[in-house]
Amino acid sequence: MTVNTSVEDTAGNGLTIGVLALQGAYDAHANVLRQLGATPKLVRLPSDLEGIDGLVMPGGESTTMLRFLEQRGFFDILKDFVHATPTFGTCAGVILLATDVSNPSQKSLGTLDVTVERNSYGRQIDSTILHSESKLPGDPIEMVFIRAPRITRTGAAVEILATRQNDPVLVREGHLLAATFHPELGHDPRVHRYFLDMVAQHKSKAAAD
Ligand code: GLN
Repeated sequence: MTVNTSVEDTAGNGLTIGVLALQGAYDAHANVLRQLGATPKLVRLPSDLEGIDGLVMPGGESTTMLRFLEQRGFFDILKDFVHATPTFGTCAGVILLATDVSNPSQKSLGTLDVTVERNSYGRQIDSTILHSESKLPGDPIEMVFIRAPRITRTGAAVEILATRQNDPVLVREGHLLAATFHPELGHDPRVHRYFLDMVAQHKSKAAAD
């Protein structure tokens, strides 16, 4: 599958999307967002959250990200931010968003009503690329799993958009989107486009209120 960067790929026009850039795969997210017409903004400090319409929390090592977040009150500021603003977590980003984390248990922003088990599909060597049907229109989605967490419980308000065998791997709860795989490392911008549509809807609703 090739990246579709045709004129229809304008889902992000006029949107500024923060990408948490403390550690991990943030550049690849910024590139996909740019391809879709959005303006990515790297977020390294609490003040970088100002003026963004949505936020991507990338994959990487959630424990390392937490260490950075525990400085300068960033954790509490980010917690308030993700509570109210569209946020897309991938892999470690899902671990940070989840209400419950196991293997081992660790602190989290507690916003997305799921339980995640870290490193649940095995070690780095068990990382894999799969294709799976999803509720997004079009072909099966390419899913790159790297030391991925497993979503072992979803709350009643969580919509499951794609699964790996029976495990949810792409879920949405209101203004939150979460993928336990890495859509930014594949060749298919549909998951990011879906997120940008969520952000645009949220923004126009906020403007109307
Ligand atoms: N294993 C990592 C963690 O527990 C997540 C891996 C990833 O983001 N690719 O934080």
